[in-house]
Amino acid sequence: MAGKSTRHAQYARKENQMPCSPQQRLASYQRRYQELADQLAEVGLIASGSITCRHTRCANPNCRCHADQPHGPYWQWTAKVSGKTVTKRLTPEQAQRYQQWIDNDRRLRAIINQMRHTADKATALILEHPELDPKV
Ligand SMILES: [Zn+2]
Repeated sequence: MAGKSTRHAQYARKENQMPCSPQQRLASYQRRYQELADQLAEVGLIASGSITCRHTRCANPNCRCHADQPHGPYWQWTAKVSGKTVTKRLTPEQAQRYQQWIDNDRRLRAIINQMRHTADKATALILEHPELDPKV
């Protein structure tokens, strides 16, 4: 991870030093886009929703949960499915897996946002300089 960000920093510095031709700029956008696409391919399984951990107190006023120790922890997955909130009780192990998939989903969306951002720059450049992308 640390190695990656160092490489990006050097790359950015190099880019700032020299004035880039549209062709060089497009090439760098395309490199960046490909890098992101490679990262996208490495994101594992994804899941929607969120995980919550709850402790509860029951209806029995004599239960220990009212004095010191609430029941739980209960792990729960919550998501919106077709506009309805759906919940599912999970074991701690399941909650851990789900959290990983949910984190992957966030990462996936972050990468796609960066791809959109990079693609916006590339497509704007191509519209300005159609000769840069003669594939059409
Ligand atoms: Zn209780």
